[in-house]
Order: sequence, then structure tokens, then C-alpha cells
Amino acid sequence: MAGGNKGGTPGDETRATHAGNHPHDNQGVINPPIYRASTILYPDVATLEQVSKDRLSRLAYGRYGTPTVSALEEAVTALEDGGRAIVLSSGLAAIAATLMNLLQAGDHLLMVDTVYGPVRNVCDRTLKKFGIETTYYSPGIGADIAGLIRPQTRIVYVEAPGSLTFEMQDIPAIARAGHDAGALVMMDNTWATPVHFKALHRGADIVVHAATKYIAGHSDVMLGIVVCREELYRQLKLGIHALGHSASPDDCYLALRGLRTLPVRLARHQEAGLALARWLKARPEVARVMHPALPDDPGHGLWKRDFAGASGLFGVVLKPCAPAALAAMLDGMRLFGMGASWGGYESLILPVNPAASRTASKWEAAGPTLRLHAGLENIEDIIADLADGFERLAAAQAAA
Ligand SMILES: *Cc1c(COP(=O)(O)O)cnc(C)c1O
Repeated sequence: MAGGNKGGTPGDETRATHAGNHPHDNQGVINPPIYRASTILYPDVATLEQVSKDRLSRLAYGRYGTPTVSALEEAVTALEDGGRAIVLSSGLAAIAATLMNLLQAGDHLLMVDTVYGPVRNVCDRTLKKFGIETTYYSPGIGADIAGLIRPQTRIVYVEAPGSLTFEMQDIPAIARAGHDAGALVMMDNTWATPVHFKALHRGADIVVHAATKYIAGHSDVMLGIVVCREELYRQLKLGIHALGHSASPDDCYLALRGLRTLPVRLARHQEAGLALARWLKARPEVARVMHPALPDDPGHGLWKRDFAGASGLFGVVLKPCAPAALAAMLDGMRLFGMGASWGGYESLILPVNPAASRTASKWEAAGPTLRLHAGLENIEDIIADLADGFERLAAAQAAA
């Protein structure tokens, strides 16, 4: 975790606690109030004319955000330690709207093969329809990405660790190669959050977050955030709202409340995730654990070099078993819920099929793959839930 008070630079915990709050502009109230608005009134014709010349010159219309939305944007940029933030209605909307605004017909996009699955639809359908070509590349490519860059390559997109399979990427090497060729580097930093990885400091020009996950952190909000270098802000901000995107002030209030406790929650998610990963590694039912903070994980060196910590999301491959045996395990979980998304306070377990969303790299696993999210429960309790699950699996396997 970046931090310390060296030279008066506040640590992440301090930023998460205070950034975006201006109590003395709000009658002493600590949390920024929820400003709900569509219409914004202009006091006179001169102001109206000024706003029609420049929509970003003051509050212009609800779609562009209210002070509640700006408070969340301010807090996220404080944690990223730079850039400008734009909040919109989901993580996927943030990714799609950014790509649609920065790319144009004839452009080429380099996309990591282990990207969050639904982004492939954006590339393979929407962007393709508008004449933008995507090439998927293997997450382990590193500096060799230079060999895939064409004169038309406008964006090199990275996500680390990879969705479902948790491969690390050499972000600084990829960013150098991208920049040398005049391309922009865009990163999905949802897993690490700005607390564990300052993407703008490591070469990203644009960072996207599914704030739905750890930033909101309570499984009750859908939100996405784009943080970009200052030079890109105007184009992106205007372009994103021109596509009709917006964010609910109520959801921004909840996300800001979640963000206040992000560093402490993450520390606990990391501890629980590592405890589960180590325990699983020692189990006879397990073929492989995919968690970059484990010392023998193939991505551990990169993770250790570049990241300040891990979150609570990781993967595990089981040894081959009958589908009914896996179902017996999953159907009886007491604490682990089964469902999409993650980053809330509760533990989750989900069977996944990485092979279905890989085209540039091969996913090979003999047994089923599970994605686990370590929640904030008592660690021994969630381990016991898994242990009981393995007992059900073994009993069903023996009966099969
Ligand atoms: C969930 C997720 C998204 C999409 O976020 P939504 O808010 O669900 O649209 C994007 N990237 C990653 C890595 C995710 O896990």
C-alpha cells in the first residue's frame, strides 16, 4: 500500500478516509449530500450562453453529474494519485464507452486474451461493426507485444491478473512498447483497485474500474469509473455523455461510503484469500491454485515487483470429478454464495469455463475450474464450509 507521510504525501488510508469530503462547504456534514438532479437552472442568459459554449464550465445538466458524482470522482483520483475520473453506470459501460470514444474506423486494438469476458462482445460485435479491428494477445507476451503493434494500433489494453485465470502481465514493458509506437495504454484495474496498483504511475494512460466490485464493496451498486490522463479528459468526458451515459447520485453516495473503508476491507480480503488459497493448495481434491501472491505462482515475480497487495479473488482447478459430485459440493455451501460479480463483503464460489473465452492462448485443465471470492467472514468458518463441501464431493463421487 502506497503511503507514509513522507514529504507530506498522505497514505492511501488517509486519502480513502477524507478525499472528496468538504464538510465545511456542507454545513459541517461529513458525507457529501446526495444531490439528485436532472434540470440545472442558469441564473441568467450570460451563464446559459457560457454553458452552451462549454458544457464543462459549470454544472450543466444532470447527465454530466451532480456534486455527489464529482465527490466520488475526486476521491478516486486521489487514490489513483493522478488523472481525472468520469463515473458512469457500470464497469462494462465504462470500458465500452471509452473504447468507442478513443477508437475510430480503421483503428486497431490489441486486447489481452484474459480480458473480462463481456468485453469480447464489445470488440467482436460493436467495435467490429464500426470498422475497428481487434487482435487478442496472450497475457504473458510482455515486451514482445511490439511485434503485434501496427501503424493503425491506437490502444493496447491490459488487465492483470486476468479474469477467471489470474495470469499477471508485465504492464510497464507493455506500456513502453505501446508508447514507443504511439499507442495509448488502457488498463482494467478492478482486481487490484488503486490501493494495490497505481496504474497511471506504471504506464497506463486510461484506467477503468468496475466500482461495482471493491470500491462500492457491498454488492448493492452498479458503477463504472474511467480515470484518464488530463490530456484525454475533455474528449472522453464529453464523448461519454454524448453517448448518453450517466451515473445515479444515490449509487455514487453508496460507492463513496464503500470507498472510505476500501483499504481496511482489502487488507482483510487479501488475508482471507491467501489463507483459503494456501489451504486449498494442500487439499488432495485440488489440482492447481491460481493466485499471484502465492510464491510458486507463475505470475508471482511480476505481482511482487509491481503490486502492493492482492485482493480476495482467485481461482482453483479441481482434479477431475463427476458433474454431480461438483454440484453436491456447491449446492450445500452454507456461507459461500454462488453468483456473478464479486468484491462485496461476502464469500462467493462460482464454476467457470475459461476455455470459452480464450482465442489467443489455450486454457487446459482436466478438472473443473472455480472462482472464489474470500469475504469478510471468520476465516476458519469459510475454510470449514469448503472442507464440508469437499466431503460432499467425495461422498457423491464415491456413489457415482
Ligand atoms: C465485473 C467486471 C467488469 C464489469 O463491471 P460491471 O460493473 O459489472 O459492468 C469489468 N472488469 C472486470 C475485471 C470485472 O470483474
